[in-house]
Amino acid sequence: MNPLAAGIGYLTAATLATAPVAAGPPDPAAGTWRTQARYLMGTVWTIEAQGRDVDRAIDEAFTEIRRLDALLSTYRPESALSRVNREAGRRWVGVSSETRELLERSLGYWRRSGGAFDPTVGALVRLWGFKYRDYRVPAAAEIDAAREKVGAGHLRVDPARGVRFARSGLEVDLGAIAKGYAVDRALERLRAGGIRAARVDAGGNQGVFGPSPAGGAWSFGIRHPRAEGEILGVTALARGAISTSGDAERGFWRDGVRYGHIIDPQSGRPVRGMLSVTVVAPTAEQADALSTALYVLGTERGTRLLEEYPDCHALFVAAGSGPGDHLLAKTAGFDIDIAAAR
Ligand code: FAD
Ligand code: MG
Repeated sequence: MNPLAAGIGYLTAATLATAPVAAGPPDPAAGTWRTQARYLMGTVWTIEAQGRDVDRAIDEAFTEIRRLDALLSTYRPESALSRVNREAGRRWVGVSSETRELLERSLGYWRRSGGAFDPTVGALVRLWGFKYRDYRVPAAAEIDAAREKVGAGHLRVDPARGVRFARSGLEVDLGAIAKGYAVDRALERLRAGGIRAARVDAGGNQGVFGPSPAGGAWSFGIRHPRAEGEILGVTALARGAISTSGDAERGFWRDGVRYGHIIDPQSGRPVRGMLSVTVVAPTAEQADALSTALYVLGTERGTRLLEEYPDCHALFVAAGSGPGDHLLAKTAGFDIDIAAAR
């Protein structure tokens, strides 16, 4: 079955195209459906929306995503976050309340996940070559040295003074949460622009509100983490967000081992044993942060963490015992139609 042909968004960690919109019965009062795609934050974003002044509303949503890219990207030397990374080892660096609050919420995920989600993992991400895709397996001594530069316990955030690192060499990396946050802000702009229904799709992070083009809930095909073009099943969402974290898009094979871009901060090495984790949540920020945290924690510890988030549900895809095997596990609230994948 081709999920795109069925009008199902294809949830991957870097979607290159979204489903063409199969328009429902025309409703002049609701306005027209439009889809636009742009490349931002190192990924293709697609927004489909229905409303009266739909093109302008979509443009404004993209302007908001571009603003957040300029603020939070560590790929842009002039961003507020890059400035923090350059200077906060020496002095307090003032930041906007928006940046400070996002950092505070990131610290909240760090605490609640017992350190599995760590917004200061930058030095390790760089060491393994995940940042610029110059992948390598570092020596143990290099990993130990980079681990000295990681630890959100060294990140100070203060409403009056801004941000300061208690240890030099720390590098904040919001790659596991900022795209989700940007999806939420884009949805908010669309709502403010009078849009009736929309999906914002940043590949592995998506959010929706209002009825889908087919009417009713939106469908998401959950990608098989190892079989290109196949889906594990389909999940439906009337509102809220969905995020998948995994090793399929950003990672490399070496001697039969897959090294993915999500690092276990405790070992300083890419997580082993998990293929992907998909989280459904009320906001895209929650879905993004939790899918990364749960990927590090694995099925058992991840399920325990989710008990603190009763509105969030997860699908875990772990490596099986044989090559190519995988094990599916989900929390009770995660609805997946496996038959739809056949
Ligand atoms: P997620 O699971 O949500 O996040 C994984 C990413 O988070 C890793 O790539 C790493 O950066 C970080 N991470 C790894 N382990 C942990 C952990 N234990 N805890 C917390 N974080 C962890 N990519 C480009 O190639 N070019 C760009 O110009 C570019 N610009 C970007 C700008 C912004 C504002 C953002 C948010 C991202 C940008 N990216 C860019 C992509 C980024 O580098 C990551 O690849 C991407 O965010 C991964 O998202 P994901 O949803 O696939 O995975
Ligand atoms: Mg994430």
